Amino acid sequence: MTDFSGVEKDIRAVSSDAVLVAVSKFHPYDAVMEAYRQGARIFGENRVQEMREKFPPKDERPEGMKVYLIGQLQRNKVRKAVEWVDRIESVDSVALIDKIEAECALASSEMDILLEFNSSGEEQKSGFSGEDELLAAAAYASEKCPHLHLLGIMTVGPLGNDEEKNRRAFMKTAEVFNKLRGIVPSASVLSMGMSGDWRTALECGSTEVRIGTAIFGERKSAK
Ligand SMILES: *Cc1c(COP(=O)(O)O)cnc(C)c1O
Repeated sequence: MTDFSGVEKDIRAVSSDAVLVAVSKFHPYDAVMEAYRQGARIFGENRVQEMREKFPPKDERPEGMKVYLIGQLQRNKVRKAVEWVDRIESVDSVALIDKIEAECALASSEMDILLEFNSSGEEQKSGFSGEDELLAAAAYASEKCPHLHLLGIMTVGPLGNDEEKNRRAFMKTAEVFNKLRGIVPSASVLSMGMSGDWRTALECGSTEVRIGTAIFGERKSAK
């Protein structure tokens, strides 16, 4: 059961312009194509190898199909990621920024990136854990990395379904995003909200939600 249209309709009732990323990790390419037929164009994957096995190379994909990497990226997989994805949304260290810049320079290519913010402070979450650290990395990427386009911030909300906790984390991220725009005025993407918390995220200023379970159903294994 792949229901992209239904989820899109629910989201459009709340926001006319939020971007909807269909998170297809653990689901087969058949499900991706079913969502594509229902209008999905942007897909999210969290592992480089799974993504490369599932999706065709950039120039062989169906019209308009894009793939964003949303999971933690090891430095030794950056080359393989840069070749295949249209955007990396999970950049969580200056070392990773350096590596992506270096691989793009080698390949004469460019990459759109988001910096991931650990808005919940949970230890098991990746992302920059402090606002100052993230803003320093933003300044660095925008000034020193000619092959990178820093578009904004991504965050994953807190574990559990506590709406007030989610709201606090999303409000905090929106605040950091505003500060980032003081450094990089062209930044326009605030990616937050998943199947369980997208409404709260949109209320807090999200411009992009990443939805897996509500579109494709439960995943066979957790990440
Ligand atoms: C898996 C995942 C999602 C989608 O989560 P659902 O709860 O299935 O909608 C969104 N963002 C990231 C970073 C993910 O890893």
